[in-house]
Amino acid sequence: MGTRKVLVTGCSSGIGLAVAVRLAKDEAKRFKVVATMRDLEKRGPLEKAAGDALNKTLAIQKLDVCCEESIKACINSLPDRQVDVLVSNAGIGMIGPLECQSITAIKELFDVNLFGLVRLVKEVLPDMKQRQSGHIVVMSSVMGLQGLLFNDVYSASKFAVEGFCESLAVQAMKFHIKTTLVEPGPVITEFERKVYEDAENIDLSETDEETARIFRDIYLPYSKMVFTTLGQTPEEVAEQTHKVITAKEPPLRHQTNRLYMPMTALKHADPTGRLPLEAFYKMIFKHDRVFKATLGVLRMLHRRGGNK
Ligand code: NAD
Repeated sequence: MGTRKVLVTGCSSGIGLAVAVRLAKDEAKRFKVVATMRDLEKRGPLEKAAGDALNKTLAIQKLDVCCEESIKACINSLPDRQVDVLVSNAGIGMIGPLECQSITAIKELFDVNLFGLVRLVKEVLPDMKQRQSGHIVVMSSVMGLQGLLFNDVYSASKFAVEGFCESLAVQAMKFHIKTTLVEPGPVITEFERKVYEDAENIDLSETDEETARIFRDIYLPYSKMVFTTLGQTPEEVAEQTHKVITAKEPPLRHQTNRLYMPMTALKHADPTGRLPLEAFYKMIFKHDRVFKATLGVLRMLHRRGGNK
């Protein structure tokens, strides 16, 4: 196989940046990467991380996943519009009680997380079908498999992404196009910083006192603990995404965080949904000490290099 042309979205920071750089620095030089971002003024960190690969195996282009014209302009500028691997990574987060989120903000989140992906796929799929080859790689989340307290809207967007890809994958397969959902658990990026910054400033007067207390005094400290205990680096996620893209038979789903797997497995163990529901309820509201002790064990496993 010759050099594969890869287009990655959301490369000004975090996972997108790390994936673009990892593929551009592929030891066997199997990829030419078009690393895209909404705002080219933010290209500094990517240029620095790309180093020698810049303008050789990595080119930077503008692309806003919320704007069809921007997607078309970027893809039309590529020789033969060729995208062999699409990495749909751009995404935004949201946490907090539902009553405190505006419908406008919720629609904006879906516009990036779901419709951004839909716009991209609509643009590249016909060409991939014609070439009878291609790989659509989507940065989903474990929250696309298992909902989590105060993540209702974000989780809904990632469930939508999962449903979209799962349905599309069957048709794509007929045209020899592969589909992969990469499902990270917590990753320490700008995403996390922005989400917690928004959470600190959220107007909790829109909800009742008990919900505000649960969010502020239970959810936020727990969630931060989970990030420090289980959080991966964007480079770890990029390494696994590179493996998935170079695999002979890429999987439909790939969870990047082994330590998070027991939480998503609960769902498959009980089709009535009671098991995960009760487990999460008890973990958060009843067994504070068990939760903290479990995190302690996981932290130890993580330090011993168990989170590969
Ligand atoms: P990040 O905030 O560092 O990166 C997200 C990128 O998307 C940013 O560069 C941002 O500018 C870009 N973006 C936002 N709107 C855009 C638009 N309209 N057009 C183009 N780009 C746009 O966060 P990250 O953690 O690297 O997130 C990358 C992906 O990974 C997201 O889809 C996110 O949902 C997913 N994810 C993140 C985590 C986590 O804990 N950080 C966990 C699981 C999945």
